[in-house]
Amino acid sequence: MVQNRRMATLVGSRDTLPRAFPTLTAEQIDRIRPLGRVRQVRSGEVLFRPDDSAVPFFVLLSGRMEIVQPTIEGERPVAFHEPGEFTGEMTMISGQRCLVIGRVTEPGEFLELDGDALRALVARDAELSEILMRAFILRRLELIRHGWGNLVVLGSQHSARTLELREFLSRNGQPYTYIDLDRDQTSQELLDRFDVKPSEVPVVVCSGNKVMRRPTIPELAAGLGFNWAATGKQVRDVIIVGAGPAGLAAAVYAASEGLDSLVIETSAPGGQAGSSSKIENYLGFPTGVSGQELAGRAVTQALKFGAHMMIARSAMRLSCDQQPYRVVLDGGDTLNTRTIVIATGAQYNKPALSNLPRFEGAGIYYGATYMESQLCVGEEVAVVGGGNSAGQAATFLAQTAGTVHMLVRSGELSSTMSRYLIQRLEENPKVKLHFHTEITALEGQEHLECVTWRERISGVESRHAIRHVFVMAGASPRTDWLRGCLALDNKGFILTGRDLDRAAAFEGNPRWPLERPPEMLETSLPGVFGVGDVRAGNVKRVASAVGEGAISIHLVHRALTEL
Ligand SMILES: Cc1cc2nc3c(=O)[nH]c(=O)nc-3n(C[C@H](O)[C@H](O)[C@H](O)COP(=O)(O)OP(=O)(O)OC[C@H]3O[C@@H](n4cnc5c(N)ncnc54)[C@H](O)[C@@H]3O)c2cc1C
Repeated sequence: MVQNRRMATLVGSRDTLPRAFPTLTAEQIDRIRPLGRVRQVRSGEVLFRPDDSAVPFFVLLSGRMEIVQPTIEGERPVAFHEPGEFTGEMTMISGQRCLVIGRVTEPGEFLELDGDALRALVARDAELSEILMRAFILRRLELIRHGWGNLVVLGSQHSARTLELREFLSRNGQPYTYIDLDRDQTSQELLDRFDVKPSEVPVVVCSGNKVMRRPTIPELAAGLGFNWAATGKQVRDVIIVGAGPAGLAAAVYAASEGLDSLVIETSAPGGQAGSSSKIENYLGFPTGVSGQELAGRAVTQALKFGAHMMIARSAMRLSCDQQPYRVVLDGGDTLNTRTIVIATGAQYNKPALSNLPRFEGAGIYYGATYMESQLCVGEEVAVVGGGNSAGQAATFLAQTAGTVHMLVRSGELSSTMSRYLIQRLEENPKVKLHFHTEITALEGQEHLECVTWRERISGVESRHAIRHVFVMAGASPRTDWLRGCLALDNKGFILTGRDLDRAAAFEGNPRWPLERPPEMLETSLPGVFGVGDVRAGNVKRVASAVGEGAISIHLVHRALTEL
């Protein structure tokens, strides 16, 4: 009976049910007992509700409870728990705010553990760790699949801000319901109910009542309480700036090796890799893995080991003339740390077209994931660039789009493009390669409608009714915030290790100050390391970024013994 009720609610597939809602054995519960306290619960008692922070973890010894979610229309049932089962999903590990209401339906005794006790359990009991983590992840995936969060986004598919918000929520694994105002006729009633003007769209409604009008990403993250657990004035062992593959690897190793570590990320975890629809050459994934999936798994792993994360916050400056070092964030907050791993990667090179920003997210994209591919099913599209990422985007988009025009500035595909990819492009009848070609004009009202490109040798310009352009034209390092503090090469990439010998060649570069030579990933500042795509001489691969992130933590340990 209860099983059927569950089937009708959270879990859509019978196969996933036992793993998302396992029943613990008496022996497993006995291993949890010493970490918690037994609590008597009454029927109707609410144990947690949306927006609560530091929600405890409960194992039902006797009694029953329901998990429901408040929505604009009222409460929606999500799951039911019976004796031997336990509460919680990913927020238990991430420390982010609760998404659901937990209400007792039958009195009994529940075993209650606080967040620290739960993390200690996960860290030291491998069997329970696997059962709990798997259930938390599966429950979150089901919430995402159903779009069941405590968030509703009301927006338009022609609005860049809407796409930006949706991408941010998806890349942060945040379940939400999307209502497209262009298609959903009943949505006007909702806008009227919250007194929203057309200029205030997109609108985000939290927990059925809190309304955010045209929020920026930092406003949305703050409104969702993403970072409340990551604040604090202590001096950390290591601050990792950037949560791409390099930063996430550093976070996993730092936290698993017991370092007090904090990751700061401007946008959403995953970095450039997060915008890749399929990474096919990362070790251990013979059928490929999407950048988002890889990043999601890495974040869960880092959080499980106790890393802290600040999302939608940026490192703006480094105070490097003092120890401990001080990282200054947007908004002026400062964080103190003994060592730093800089993993800020690189940013996309964009065609120099004055109206390009107007179409970003409304016809101009810098990533080709499943979401973008659904916007241009059957349509003619253009991909700008001749490197690996352009090649991957073109082959991926060719699966769903009509013709894919690949616009390459030089006379050939990049020498760094993998051989297998070149072959796939050349053999794909849907991909049309245009060499010596660049975009000269973009046209459109709300959305991109028309693209003009020029073949540079003949000078011939042609105009095309293309509504979607994917810009994959390489990247520049994100190091502006470090100028004057660290030695950089002429393009702004961070010099590390032996490459610091070249530092003097570039004017204004600080010198290595110690007797001992710098470690291999160490920058011109002792105890500050540069890893991944931001480092001079990097190889622009997920695997090498991950490897460098891992190595940097080994070097952080050495630096900490020096201080
Ligand atoms: C579309 C695409 C497809 C790709 N496909 C492959 C592939 O198949 N195989 C492969 O091996 N490689 C691939 N790559 C390359 C690979 O993704 C990169 O080499 C890798 O992501 C580099 O990792 P990183 O952590 O050094 O930097 P990034 O991934 O660039 O991450 C840097 C992070 O730092 C954050 N950040 C920047 N500045 C700040 C700041 N001041 N404060 C806080 N945070 C900040 C950024 O928001 C970003 O999340 C692809 C790249 C792209 C764009």
